[in-house]
Amino acid sequence: AAMREERIEKTKTVCTYCGVGCSFDVWTKDREILKVEPHPESPANGISTCVKGKFGWDYVNSDDRLQKPLIRRGDTFEEVEWEEAIAYAVRRMNEIKAEKGADHLGFISSSKATNEESYLMQKISRQVIGTNNVDNCSRYCQAPATKGLFRTVGYGGDSGSIDDLAKSELVMTIGSNTAESHPVLASRIKRSQKLFGQKLFVFDLRKHEMAKRADRFFSPKSGTDLVWISAVTRYILDQGWEDKNFLNDWVNGFEDYRESLEPFTLEYAANMTGFSEEDLKDLAKEIVEAKTVSICWAMGVTQHMLGSDTSTAISNLLLITGNYGKPGTGAYPLRGHNNVQGCSDFGSQPDQFPGYESVTDEEVRKRYEEAWGVDLPKEIGMDNHEMIEAIHDGNLSMMYVIGEDTGIVDANINYVTAAFEKLDFFIVQDLFLTRTAEYADVVLPAAPSLEKEGTFTNTERRIQRLYKSFEPLQGTKPDWEILQDVAKEAGFDWKYESPSEIMDEAASLAPLFAGVTYDRLEGYNSLQWPVAEDGTDEPLLFVDRFPFEDGKARLYPLDFELMYDTTEEYDLHVNNGRLLEHFHEGNMTYRSAGISRKTPDSFVEVSEELAKERGIKEGARVKLISESGEATGTVTVTDRVKGKELFVPMNGTGKSAVNFLTDNRVDKDTDTPAYKEIAVKMKVLTKE
Ligand code: SF4
Repeated sequence: AAMREERIEKTKTVCTYCGVGCSFDVWTKDREILKVEPHPESPANGISTCVKGKFGWDYVNSDDRLQKPLIRRGDTFEEVEWEEAIAYAVRRMNEIKAEKGADHLGFISSSKATNEESYLMQKISRQVIGTNNVDNCSRYCQAPATKGLFRTVGYGGDSGSIDDLAKSELVMTIGSNTAESHPVLASRIKRSQKLFGQKLFVFDLRKHEMAKRADRFFSPKSGTDLVWISAVTRYILDQGWEDKNFLNDWVNGFEDYRESLEPFTLEYAANMTGFSEEDLKDLAKEIVEAKTVSICWAMGVTQHMLGSDTSTAISNLLLITGNYGKPGTGAYPLRGHNNVQGCSDFGSQPDQFPGYESVTDEEVRKRYEEAWGVDLPKEIGMDNHEMIEAIHDGNLSMMYVIGEDTGIVDANINYVTAAFEKLDFFIVQDLFLTRTAEYADVVLPAAPSLEKEGTFTNTERRIQRLYKSFEPLQGTKPDWEILQDVAKEAGFDWKYESPSEIMDEAASLAPLFAGVTYDRLEGYNSLQWPVAEDGTDEPLLFVDRFPFEDGKARLYPLDFELMYDTTEEYDLHVNNGRLLEHFHEGNMTYRSAGISRKTPDSFVEVSEELAKERGIKEGARVKLISESGEATGTVTVTDRVKGKELFVPMNGTGKSAVNFLTDNRVDKDTDTPAYKEIAVKMKVLTKE
């Protein structure tokens, strides 16, 4: 018994699923995961977790894990040794660079990988290859939120902590299925409702759990959030209810902004959104009467052609009502993946170095050139979306993708996989032979979070350490080691002994992380950026200034045009989103037995009215057809959706994948796919 106990170990880790960033102790015996136990000092979650964090770890020991690098030989893959795979990968990258130029190569980092790994991915791209063509999957989700916040308040992150949010008098959630996508954060809201009567207003197309719990639920016409937000803001100004002192002291651009609100009358907004004028007036009144207001939003806002503008409108409303810089106020774009915040923070973006400094800023570039000993590219690179277009146009020939199943999560997957086929060379680094990896020339087997050290940054800008629970599965390596092998093979003298040294380098170069060290992050300690050199962090932003030269925020004028609608032929609108049990494309959660048994596959939610009209019942099989492709699914008839709205989980696999239906339309400011703007027609295959 003593022997057995000796093998049992406890390590701290951070959840690898959503952006709440729950941390907990993992009890292991060799490679066996015995239990996951939250720790009272876990800063984001205390003693809570959700089903994914508690039970979603079987994928780590799945038989499907890759254990040898693969090289394509014709239609099949051959298992090879690491040396051969890395040498081949680097030789082909160098050949393509020599023949076509560095900008024919593109790099996609992973928001499931650590901050240190994102840092190294952009370093490979910029230092080793010499291109700014590097991006990450925040392009698919939250880039518009970041844009809206940069325009108005200067930092692209949550304004405060989950603790602050819990203190708000009024929480508004827009386009966020919080209970399923950010379960532990949703529990905090539920607790505040009970504890002190926090008010919750939910704005969504779908009547999900939080909508049912809300004090008020509003269901606008898809794609019109910008209109009701701007109309409410205008009405507040018309009544003279704005926070005049706050605007005077802290905000620029008032006159131009006020003028831009001219078209957003109550009548216009009621027509566009389907809200009544009374509802809009009530909303304005409730917002100004609440002492503190926080607004959370997610992909129901961002994945539209006006995703950035709608995010900006939210921030404008918060500024007009003085809801920044005090506990219980602010903007909360809820980050989807565990490290989607950190992946952008640490520089895997085509326009910015780590810490959001522009690649076109000469002074900044010089700092990196001196540290890295090379000249760096001066032009902004291509984002994910532009890379796929560029492949089709013959302007990109090589891609290196880490931990992202682009071939199923990007919009319009027929178009994306057709691009993969045109590549001269394709490297995929992942745990499994994913749908994307099937198109690769080289597949490099990576190690998941439990098998490595590093840091993740959650939705509250909170940087937290994860510790190695056990060694990488035989034959696999952590992404940071693989990237270091690639750089060395290419002749660069990288010599990181551990991820803490990578963080030290990032902290020395990016002022936003100046005081971040592994010592300061020991155990359950954490830091919320910006972190000053002396280690002072900022759980609540904008307390004494906005990060613009004069310390003031900026109102940003907007206009509106309806970008999308259903048509006579494509008469139904497909909304899509997450499920509690599954994560993203499901590569990890479908490999967790307990989860898979409970929710084995995707489905199509159909309203009672539509089911009646089409003569279909629960269990019917239908084919959805859009202008880009088709997907099949099993019907569930529910009161969560109404009229001609359908809902399909984004976690579908095989033929049910929603991205067969999505197309190439994107947010005009960030290229985030307009995943939420799909019109389809429905063909009934079986009626029940
Ligand atoms: Fe993980 Fe998010 Fe669940 Fe927390 S709420 S356990 S971070 S999936």
